[in-house]
Amino acid sequence: METFDGGIVRVTLPMPSRPGHVHSYLLPGADGWTIVDTGLGLPDAKERWAAVLAALDGPVARIFITHFHPDHVGAAADLAGLTGAPVYQGALDYEQCERTWRSPGRQELTSAWLRANGMPSAEEEEMRAFGAQYQQMTRYQPDPLLVEPGDRIDGWELVPAPGHADGQLMLLKDGLLVAGDHVLPRISPAIGLWPDSSPDPLGDYLAALADLPSLEARVAFPGHGDPIADPAGRAAELIAHHGERLDTLVGFLGDEPQTPYELSFVLFGPDLSPAGRRFAVTETASHLERLLRENRAEREDADGVIAYRRATVS
Ligand SMILES: [Zn+2]
Repeated sequence: METFDGGIVRVTLPMPSRPGHVHSYLLPGADGWTIVDTGLGLPDAKERWAAVLAALDGPVARIFITHFHPDHVGAAADLAGLTGAPVYQGALDYEQCERTWRSPGRQELTSAWLRANGMPSAEEEEMRAFGAQYQQMTRYQPDPLLVEPGDRIDGWELVPAPGHADGQLMLLKDGLLVAGDHVLPRISPAIGLWPDSSPDPLGDYLAALADLPSLEARVAFPGHGDPIADPAGRAAELIAHHGERLDTLVGFLGDEPQTPYELSFVLFGPDLSPAGRRFAVTETASHLERLLRENRAEREDADGVIAYRRATVS
């Protein structure tokens, strides 16, 4: 545990896949601690949290979930059980959380969607094991207290941060921003198109990044990596990064339609694990949908397969 500005305590939890760790943040308040995010539901999550709680000087008043990804929501039920504290989660985010992790047909939906984006069946099969592994590590808390952007929790304003997850919420108070995975140092958060995500997650993300300076945050505490001393500057870097990626991708488009799967090889290279390829395809797809909306690409849906080509100049 490490203590930062405003008495914020950071707890770092392990992750078996990249980036190898995830942070939870404990925010001090008059009625006790607010724990932001919970780490993966690893087999020893409860023991780990019990040790953290034993070292705290006060009760846990509430648990807040920034977004439904396994490394953030995964141990929510464990932690709620240990503390008896209520769990708060954004209404849109919880809807996606339930749809993603509870529905037994979800894997089929994702599989069909990846095949429609050009992924070969054999490779898609390999990814099921990865998906099943994460399903097991996602013990979200059913029926949390639902919150909306603009609501306040113990004096912290909830700020919408779509892109990485449609319903992601950050917490803002006195220039301190607990940012989930909206802005990360060094790495660019994955902005993926998924079968039932927003149709233009990259557009949502770039708009939210453009709004970030208006928050006047002097430091951001990210889900992965060190605190960001210039959140507005980091947002500008991420906007520039995606601008370059969009330009690169449009350069790979030709007159013959190519699938997001095919284009993911030129954009992300050939050497990826099945899980890495899955993220590459969803991220390539989000960039293609952005190009489509900028009239820089055209989409073709033939025989249930989605493919893109360069926009014809009119
Ligand atoms: Zn994360």
